[in-house]
Amino acid sequence: MAENIITEPEESKGLNFVEQIVADDLKKGKNGGRLNTRFPPEPNGYLHIGHAKAICMDFGVAEKFGGTCNLRFDDTNPVKEDVEYVDSIREDIHWLGFDWGDREYYASDYFPQLYDLAIRLIKEGKAYVDDQTSEEIAAQKGTPTTPGTNSPYRDRSVEENLDLFTRMNAGEFAEGSHVLRAKIDMASSNMHFRDPIMYRIIHHPHHRTGNKWHVYPMYDFAHGQSDYFEGVTHSICTLEFVPHRPLYDYFVDELADETYRPRQIEFNRLNLTYTVMSKRKLLQLVKEGLVAGWDDPRMPTISGMRRRGFTPRSIRNFIDTIGYTKYEALNSVALLEYAVREDLNKIATRAMAVIDPVKVVITNYPEGQTEMVEMDNNPENLEEGTHQMPFSREIYIERDDFMENPPKKYFRLAPDCEVRLKGAYIIKCTGVKKDADGNIEEIYCTYDPESRSGLPGSQRKVKGTLHWVDANQAVDATVRIYDRLFNVENPAAETERDFREMLNPESLKVVEGVKVEPFIAENAKQGAKFQFQRIGYFTPDYDSTPEKLVFNRTIALKDSWEKAQKK
Ligand code: ATP
Ligand code: MG
Repeated sequence: MAENIITEPEESKGLNFVEQIVADDLKKGKNGGRLNTRFPPEPNGYLHIGHAKAICMDFGVAEKFGGTCNLRFDDTNPVKEDVEYVDSIREDIHWLGFDWGDREYYASDYFPQLYDLAIRLIKEGKAYVDDQTSEEIAAQKGTPTTPGTNSPYRDRSVEENLDLFTRMNAGEFAEGSHVLRAKIDMASSNMHFRDPIMYRIIHHPHHRTGNKWHVYPMYDFAHGQSDYFEGVTHSICTLEFVPHRPLYDYFVDELADETYRPRQIEFNRLNLTYTVMSKRKLLQLVKEGLVAGWDDPRMPTISGMRRRGFTPRSIRNFIDTIGYTKYEALNSVALLEYAVREDLNKIATRAMAVIDPVKVVITNYPEGQTEMVEMDNNPENLEEGTHQMPFSREIYIERDDFMENPPKKYFRLAPDCEVRLKGAYIIKCTGVKKDADGNIEEIYCTYDPESRSGLPGSQRKVKGTLHWVDANQAVDATVRIYDRLFNVENPAAETERDFREMLNPESLKVVEGVKVEPFIAENAKQGAKFQFQRIGYFTPDYDSTPEKLVFNRTIALKDSWEKAQKK
């Protein structure tokens, strides 16, 4: 009966190709039905949005199918690694909403096993010490279409190799004087098989093992075996590792029996327009002071995006949207920005701030009087309630919300025209005061007392609605407005130019003297998300204090804002 009806398994619907492979393996009962993935960062920099894509895959697939995901630091190069990076990586993964429990591992934990394997391969005649320089070794590599040349040291005796390798590790030799190479095939069609380097000498202390070792495994001699030692069943990585896979298999073959081996699956990297993803280049920007640090809000790093006010959900939604394929692509940053706006629209607290203020005096409003008007905290979610905002005889509006000689169909403030002040009254412009250069210093208006929000008179038709703040109680703030870090769509593709030449000189604009309503000042806690009405989404920067408020503009309300600013 039921057993005879063959149906598509529930979980195969809507799965990406990696999840499909995992689902099939689980169905076949491979690895005893176990699912264990890992996210393997090298702690040599902060994580960026590309890593977030890998994290969502590695942790996401484990969550989806009831498996586990390890965090493994692939710390095979002590020169470039640091605990600062380890700490930041942990924080960023947690912030994205994932957890590895007690499964935090380090490739350096496996240095003893890897060393033992190297000794064994030497004894079996499968590895040798080469005394040539890295340039000489590179020159013998050949090309994809021509075979390489054997090293003159390739046929050293096992005894000599053992002696040299143990002395390499004892610290007897200078860096670069010897390497240990796998003896595979200098004519292989896969370049990675042409006697790859397994170990090099490094005298720099390691962030975990200190000065214990003087030889360090190459990534290619550590990664596949680390997966194996850890019991990883699905080793998911990016497409550039496709040609490395046979070599990983070769080394794992030296360890594994028939019952279990990690399976590597590759997907396409995330590349984003108007930025770079190379950790080396990002480090250079930080080191040379071209940005304010790894968490500069213009950086494509997770910490930069957090500081800028992006939410983990928006990043995860963006990654879901772009998906996982086998083809390299360049993803538009506009898609990420869309996801950020969509999420902030749901959660940001609405409030008023005036970025470029000009004073408006309401001449028929009683001097010395202040009244409170009520504002929705979030019209998308009325459960968020309301707050009170002061209104008095003097207010600020945005300078470009007024025009002395407006064109037709101008719906903002102009002489003899009416506008609505959001949540308050309708006002009419009666005149202006200018300084000696003709700049407008003050705008004079009258208000209609019957038009207060909530009164029947407020129903009167007026085309424009402006945001504003009370001049007496507004608080000064600084606002940092970010634009794209690079002014070239794909800096990595412009190989002729130094990438630093393509930095956008206008990527950061600091605006002082911004006026915010008191409610914003009172609620400017770290992590708070505001929508400054008609302007954009803002969050307090780490530099913000109650005495000196500093906000980052996370993103403009609409895509067109940048253009409007540049006019
Ligand atoms: P490095 O040049 O230092 O190796 P990396 O960006 O590869 O830089 P890793 O720390 O090795 O950095 O990356 C950890 C994991 O994140 C790897 O599995 C890698 O495939 C993945 N990853 C890195 N960059 C991206 C990207 N742009 N898109 C998707 N995954 C990425
Ligand atoms: Mg890497």
